[in-house]
Amino acid sequence: MKITQKRKVNRYMSFFRNNYGFRVPYQVLVDGTLFSEQLSKYFQCELKLLTTQCVILEMEKIGPSINGALSICKQFAVHKCGHEKKPVLASKCLESMIADNNPNRYIIATQDPSLREVARAVPGTPVLYLHFRSPTLEKPSQQSTELAGATIKSSIHDQGCTMERLRQLKKQELGGQTGEEKRFKRRKAKGPNPLSCKKKKKKIGTQNSLQKAGTSADQAQRPRRRKRVKIAEHIRQELAARLSVPKTSN
Ligand SMILES: [Zn+2]
Repeated sequence: MKITQKRKVNRYMSFFRNNYGFRVPYQVLVDGTLFSEQLSKYFQCELKLLTTQCVILEMEKIGPSINGALSICKQFAVHKCGHEKKPVLASKCLESMIADNNPNRYIIATQDPSLREVARAVPGTPVLYLHFRSPTLEKPSQQSTELAGATIKSSIHDQGCTMERLRQLKKQELGGQTGEEKRFKRRKAKGPNPLSCKKKKKKIGTQNSLQKAGTSADQAQRPRRRKRVKIAEHIRQELAARLSVPKTSN
């Protein structure tokens, strides 16, 4: 599959996911005219292929020429269509399955041009057909995009309402906050900033500081000893001699 084709499918299906609540695995409602083993590959995700009792009955009526297709169709899940007692034409059956804006989020897969036209008129209905054996998803119909536009507008309106409510709530909350701030302001510290002031003189500061340094109080109270400097004996004699000389001369 070409990249441009992949992108197209992704774009179309994200439109249906975002605006009409489609979810993987997508439900593909198939009639007797379209069979492809490439559908999962085409959508690049898991699919639920399904059909109805009316479709199977119509195929059975056609006869053995489409037995192969019939056996494939019988492998699909059969969703209840409400025509169990009185079967209708397959196209009419599928039409009824997507009535009231396709509430079950079906993708309609058919080669029947009139059914495709009907499906296009139902907003929120992806339409798939085979173009030379290749599955091809139609661009979301005008009805689909128009209704999506309307829902987007209404959601914007809703957003406006919620924004207004949020603003109100925020105001209330802010009001509460300012009250709190006032309370905090009353608890303001008295006096100047202690960090910017000169420290008070402590009475027994030396003791404290020494204790902090690891010395005991007794040591701190003792007078400090002067450190003795040892002088060699010959230098002391020399010094004594020099000092004694001027004394004697005088
Ligand atoms: Zn039916």
